[in-house]
Amino acid sequence: MLVKRLIKMSNGETKTDVILIGAGIMSATLGTILKELVPEWEIKVFEKLENAGEESSNEWNNAGTGHAALCELNYTTEKPDGSVDISKAISINEQFQVSMQFWSYLVNRGLIQNPQEFIRQLPHMSLVQGEQNISFLKRRFEALTKNPLFQGMEFSEDPEKLMEWIPLIMEGRKWNEPIAATKIDTGTDVNFGALTRMLFNHLENKNVDVKYNHSVTDLKRNSEGLWELKVQNQFSGNVKRHTAKFVFIGGGGGSLHLLQKSGIPEGKNIGGFPVSGIFMVCNNPAVVEQHHAKVYGKAKVGAPPMSVPHLDTRFIDNKKTLLFGPFAGFSPKFLKTGSMLDLVTSVKPNNVLTMLAAGAKEMPLTKYLIQQVMLSKEQRMEELREFIPSAKSEDWDLVVAGQRVQVIKDTEAGGKGTLQFGTEVITAADGSIAALLGASPGASTAVQVMLQVIKKCFPEHINEWEPKIKEMIPSYGMSLMKNPDLLREVHSSTEQSLGLTEKELAYN
Ligand SMILES: Cc1cc2nc3c(=O)[nH]c(=O)nc-3n(C[C@H](O)[C@H](O)[C@H](O)COP(=O)(O)OP(=O)(O)OC[C@H]3O[C@@H](n4cnc5c(N)ncnc54)[C@H](O)[C@@H]3O)c2cc1C
Repeated sequence: MLVKRLIKMSNGETKTDVILIGAGIMSATLGTILKELVPEWEIKVFEKLENAGEESSNEWNNAGTGHAALCELNYTTEKPDGSVDISKAISINEQFQVSMQFWSYLVNRGLIQNPQEFIRQLPHMSLVQGEQNISFLKRRFEALTKNPLFQGMEFSEDPEKLMEWIPLIMEGRKWNEPIAATKIDTGTDVNFGALTRMLFNHLENKNVDVKYNHSVTDLKRNSEGLWELKVQNQFSGNVKRHTAKFVFIGGGGGSLHLLQKSGIPEGKNIGGFPVSGIFMVCNNPAVVEQHHAKVYGKAKVGAPPMSVPHLDTRFIDNKKTLLFGPFAGFSPKFLKTGSMLDLVTSVKPNNVLTMLAAGAKEMPLTKYLIQQVMLSKEQRMEELREFIPSAKSEDWDLVVAGQRVQVIKDTEAGGKGTLQFGTEVITAADGSIAALLGASPGASTAVQVMLQVIKKCFPEHINEWEPKIKEMIPSYGMSLMKNPDLLREVHSSTEQSLGLTEKELAYN
């Protein structure tokens, strides 16, 4: 049993059951799940910025795609025999259904309100040009639509149909240019910043102590086996110690340094490589109005998977907007608000060889990122014109998005210093601390990833908690793909609870 009460220690120290570092979507999700499972546990959160959801989870710092593998071409690969491997797409879709069920539970219980402030239904489309790409898209479509998870997807290479679906993209194109797209209406645009803020409001209502402007500067295990954190008040500069039995390092790009400070053996030989993002945002309402979808294209040769170009309708601050990108780039910072020394100070004796090996292997990626940083606005406009041939420079502005720190580690398949594009949960053997590294598929899979943290860190409680987890996520432990009746039920109830069936939502 964890410590019951929050005790103010005589020297200004506090002792709690759980400390969450960082107020992004991951800590928000873990805190909310834990509060449902064990309301009596005391939880404290330390966030170095002045609000929740200000880093990668902020609506302007990520693309807001509810990643369900409905449009992202990099989640399906072509096998040597020409068939299309959809296993990753299935896994990502199933994970997104877990998030949708949890968010519905929160709305149904009145724990968060107004779901349209964080999620909207929006068609998800994949768009390709050229015969070879069209052939792949068609085979991909055929493979996906055999699976119940992807029912409702359409394919077309008919310019008239495409004109109906994406007039802004089709206008001004030569009609003999081979072009094709898939479309599925049940995609989503998710405002992860709004969701993070809603979840933190809810947590504060449940007496979770959220300390903003407090930076965790160090952490170590004390003689009682508890985790002891040094936390600095960003205004006064005062440092206090806070202890907890369980710590979640949800610092986004800040997690690697904190994991290294914890000294746990599981955190050794791991490095991080930051990739920054830039979007172009449309400032002309007449152009914004002509598009209504997330349209994903194909990544350029040499580009990392997270810089697949896409043209997205977004709903931010209750306003419809249009973003294109992300262009990748390089900055040594691990957080948008981080330090230029982040990359250098993340190199430690235990990961230096791993980092050097990655450096040697990833020269083409480094070169690509540097080229991306050097692009002028007009060169970026040229890339946009591959989507919108008539795009005018004066209608578009640049916005800097969040930083993604890709994990570098030694793997059997890739050898020393392999760059990873997924998410990694690192936990101590005794489950007393967990850290989340990496950023893809990201916020969309927060619920599944946090359930994984819970399973790894609280194995002694998982049986007792299972009925409550099933109440929150009816498909927990089951494959929806293999249970089409349950899938239908889940789709219909989540659409209802999250208001995704209303076609005519006001957004202006
Ligand atoms: C360009 C871009 C596009 C993306 N697009 C998508 C998308 O379309 N769909 C999707 O699902 N995901 C997307 N992602 C990924 C998604 O944004 C992230 O996976 C997710 O937001 C990470 O949440 P987090 O809580 O781990 O981190 P963050 O939101 O970054 O939060 C971490 C918090 O920890 C705080 N912190 C750090 N260090 C400390 C410390 N020492 N002490 C106290 N506080 C600290 C930070 O200030 C920050 O508030 C995208 C990311 C980027 C960068």
